[in-house]
Amino acid sequence: MELLEGRTLSKEILTSLESRIEKTKAALNRPPSLTIINYYDDSPSAIYVKRKIKVCDRLGIKTDLINPGEDKGYSHFLELLKNFQEDESIDAIMIERPLPSGYEAIKTWDTFGALKDVDGLSSLSMGKLFLAKNIAEIEKGDFYVPCTALAVIKMIKKYAIDIKGANIAVVGRSSIVGRPLAHMLTSMDATVTLCHSKTKDIVSIFKKSDIIISAVGKARWIKADMIGENSLLIDVGTNIDKNGKMCGDIDFENVKDKVDYITPVPGGVGPVTLACLLENVVKAAERKVESL
Ligand code: NAP
Repeated sequence: MELLEGRTLSKEILTSLESRIEKTKAALNRPPSLTIINYYDDSPSAIYVKRKIKVCDRLGIKTDLINPGEDKGYSHFLELLKNFQEDESIDAIMIERPLPSGYEAIKTWDTFGALKDVDGLSSLSMGKLFLAKNIAEIEKGDFYVPCTALAVIKMIKKYAIDIKGANIAVVGRSSIVGRPLAHMLTSMDATVTLCHSKTKDIVSIFKKSDIIISAVGKARWIKADMIGENSLLIDVGTNIDKNGKMCGDIDFENVKDKVDYITPVPGGVGPVTLACLLENVVKAAERKVESL
């Protein structure tokens, strides 16, 4: 079994941003800036928010953390987003999930506009992603790709995994991970089965797949008896188990002797996702410079 860790790739991406940050800082006369919206201080996302802010501080990206307050309602949230969209001192906006019930809507992502939408959820970014014919068009596009989906693609490329013609089971169909990821993998000539909670006989799909990518959010639910002789397991899940320990969707200890390659949690897709987010923040600041 070979471990496909993500920290090295994350470092490479972050290092490549240093000079770009300096250049944009000089052109804008201020550091690139990211506004993070997080409703729940006790949610798992709060851990990642702290990590994001720490790395941004180190790189010289200014961050603002906002909790709009659930009691203030949806129209207050939209008003806030509109103000952020118009605020010239904000280059990028990241909305952490979970959001209050009903807030995850196209109207939300479109209120703050495609230019600052560094997690690629606006209709414009999503539309452009799904209209792109191949991965080169996606990589060069003037839009953002959801960071977690992009991180998986970057890991596949980093480890030179040949996915052409491969059967890949992607588990989870959210707009931030499964759906954009399935599209990008298809653009790279893989044959993708996009699985979800209503998928029948998921085990037989797993057993026929060369690669399984799980983004479900269930601690250690994929066990050795659910998979065949798979070449590769990519674990996007970041879950906190009963003992407060972070773990993936895949039971690492249980499957590790049956697979050729596996990503760990923590230390796999997560650090690369963070690096992809900050790369998008720098891209947003550079777009601001271009518009001056
Ligand atoms: P989500 O929106 O809750 O989606 C979960 C998906 O899993 C849904 O499509 C759901 O199906 C499917 N699902 C649930 N139970 C299933 C089952 N038993 N069998 C098959 N499919 C099942 O979650 P998300 O936001 O995409 O996140 C998924 C995981 O990735 C979470 O652990 C999250 O913390 C993690 N994550 C990690 C990163 C990172 O940087 N590593 C970033 C983002 C998210 P239905 O659609 O039918 O409900």
